[in-house]
Amino acid sequence: MKTEKSHKLFERAKNVIPGGVNSPVRAFRAVGGNPLFIKRAEGAYLIDEDDNKYIELINSWGPMILGHANTDIENAVCEAVKDSLSFGAPGEREVFMAELITTMIPSIEKVRMVSSGTEATMAAVRLARGYTNRAKIIKFEGCYHGHGDSFLIAAGSGAITLGVPDSPGVTQGVANDTLTAPFNNLKAVQDLAAANKGQIAAIIIEPVAGNMGLVVPETGFLQGLRTLCDNEGIVLIFDEVMTGFRLSKGGAQQILNVKPDITTLGKIIGGGMPVGAYGGKKEIMDFVSPAGPVYQAGTLSGNPVAMAAGLAMLNYLNTHPEVYTHLENITARICEGFEKNLKELGIKGTVNKIGSMFTLFFTDQKVKDFETAKTSDTALFGRYFRAMLEEGVYLAPSQYESLFISTAITEELAEKIVNANYKALKAVLQN
Ligand code: PMP
Repeated sequence: MKTEKSHKLFERAKNVIPGGVNSPVRAFRAVGGNPLFIKRAEGAYLIDEDDNKYIELINSWGPMILGHANTDIENAVCEAVKDSLSFGAPGEREVFMAELITTMIPSIEKVRMVSSGTEATMAAVRLARGYTNRAKIIKFEGCYHGHGDSFLIAAGSGAITLGVPDSPGVTQGVANDTLTAPFNNLKAVQDLAAANKGQIAAIIIEPVAGNMGLVVPETGFLQGLRTLCDNEGIVLIFDEVMTGFRLSKGGAQQILNVKPDITTLGKIIGGGMPVGAYGGKKEIMDFVSPAGPVYQAGTLSGNPVAMAAGLAMLNYLNTHPEVYTHLENITARICEGFEKNLKELGIKGTVNKIGSMFTLFFTDQKVKDFETAKTSDTALFGRYFRAMLEEGVYLAPSQYESLFISTAITEELAEKIVNANYKALKAVLQN
């Protein structure tokens, strides 16, 4: 494969951008080799600067549910652009967006738009602290909630990949207020809450974790957190930046049937544009400025172009329930194919999946938390990643990420992905 142009761009980038990229995992550090610079994308494909074409399973880390360059979304953006790119004043699309979100996710009674998932989670925790007048939060090992200081403690995603789950630059004072528990371990959370009685403002969790690879909650775990929060006056925050509108039109909370007090949303509601949001019970949301005393603001919040993109996508998802059936069927087909390949080739692997998200872990253990996720053979994953690229399939460049399927993946492409997986696994065995 010729990747000269990407390589040259990366060399230039390293002179002027830290590590040559604007978000760490993109640098391919965990899998070896140089990152590919993407020129454009269409449907199920990414096309790099050297004109290589890949079937891709990241979809901008989730939001491109309808595939790349979707006509409805692009038309909505083009229309919005004609009326200027930003007003810094309220516009009708923000009202439509809030009405649509509160209809699709009933636990959200009021919602505030921001510009990224990180902003959403930072604001949600500040709000929970302001509302409860308490300082501490509980998060889960291997969960990632963006790069806010409070969350860079036992953090997942790029923080694990790059080996800095506890980042320098986060002060001890901040770290002391973040308590951590293993995912799927209710007893550990109950113990933390008992040892810090009356001091916990919030429990924040990815209801389906996607940032240590995909890890699904065990039966009763989220319900147990809900009960604990109710008993202890703790605000339960579901970080649905990746799962909201993806796992169902009402997010993970709809399919798992547990209602949080606050939900954080991200990239998906921008259809690919930079957007985030946090919302929940009226009583809590009315603590947010200017309705209440907890300050939070943003020049580009509710940006008209981003709202136009997001509205086009959410309106489509809201009126086309068959999208979710298609995504689930295709994902099941791919995962079954991968499992069959692993078995046939005698490679240790565990495939975790839910809806249109999945991860192949190179371990024979059941992966239910960060400890078990870490039993994966990450060196083997690196070789597998490169072999898949050679087969024309672009995966997330780290073991500790979920993959995301879009509606652009047809049955035929699913078949191609399964075949590529077989060839890549075989190539990895020979090396
Ligand atoms: N929460 C979760 C669950 C995420 O997966 C991410 C990013 N992948 C974030 C928060 C942060 O979002 P952003 O990168 O838009 O700041």
